Amino acid sequence: MKKKPTFARHPRAGKPLIGKLVIFGVGLIGGSFALALKKHRAVAHVVGVGRSRANLLAARRLRIIDEIATDPALAVKDADLVLLAVPLGQTRAVLAQIAPHLAAHTVVSDAGSTKRDVIDSARRQLGAEFARFVPAHPIAGTEKSGAQAAFPELFENRNLIVTPEPETSAGAVKLVTAAWKLAGMRILTMQAAAHDRMFALVSHLPHLLSFTAVGNIAGYPDAAKLFQHTGGGFRDLTRIAGSSPEMWRDICIANRDAILAALDGYLSDLEAVRGMVEASDGPALAAKFAAARGARAKWIKPN
Ligand code: NAD
Repeated sequence: MKKKPTFARHPRAGKPLIGKLVIFGVGLIGGSFALALKKHRAVAHVVGVGRSRANLLAARRLRIIDEIATDPALAVKDADLVLLAVPLGQTRAVLAQIAPHLAAHTVVSDAGSTKRDVIDSARRQLGAEFARFVPAHPIAGTEKSGAQAAFPELFENRNLIVTPEPETSAGAVKLVTAAWKLAGMRILTMQAAAHDRMFALVSHLPHLLSFTAVGNIAGYPDAAKLFQHTGGGFRDLTRIAGSSPEMWRDICIANRDAILAALDGYLSDLEAVRGMVEASDGPALAAKFAAARGARAKWIKPN
């Protein structure tokens, strides 16, 4: 039997959940969000605002957005939801551009990989409208960027972390989480500081290790030869070094303190391993690797 399409209707008026959605940054995340909502017929009209005209034209051709807007003030007029999916370094400027033009019902949210700095910017730029700002981070992604990389299934069975502040309106959280749920996400709520510490450890640090692993090899005079001899392990370790340099530069700056703490912890661990190698301490090395292998096996349980 053919599966019936899911319709996400507004409970009151029989309208889609979101009438007008405005996306700043129609890349992997913003584009996939729009596609997921369109797939579930949960949005009537999607407006894209961006920095690259070519990317916006591609997004319209791919039917990710219905309209390209060049004036942020006009773009957000009468919007139900505005999603910021721009590199973190752009957040403050975009919020400043839209703040004076938000309608009383417009909800603003973001998809940024860090939360404390985004909340600080939103509180400063949005003033009284800050209650309708919902800080959120979808834990889903690939190493690819731009509208061409977007696909509607990106968020299925993944977590959305929401980090509301005491002022955040429950109604605004309800709208944003309803939209991400339709995209297939499970919703988790936590404090912004806890989020930033956690992702410094499990995401930001591994990205730095990956970029550095490639950069380190690239710095040797015989780099071309070294790369020729890399195997599957090096490829696995460095897949994420294909990620956007701008995005990762901004994450490092936005989450500086938590990343420094994560780096310090890792460097002292690496220093300990260096000591074991220097001392040719076989038992210590074996114990260290066995503990890591055990922890990994416990984390990734076979299906
Ligand atoms: P992306 O590079 O694919 O898309 C970002 C888009 O923003 C680009 O199209 C760019 O042209 C546009 N842009 C840049 N400055 C702008 C501005 N001032 N106004 C409007 N548009 C602008 O990046 P992405 O992977 O979609 O990441 C977007 C956000 O989502 C980032 O904040 C990132 O931290 C977060 N995020 C990324 C991932 C991931 O794995 N890629 C996962 C979760 C969250």
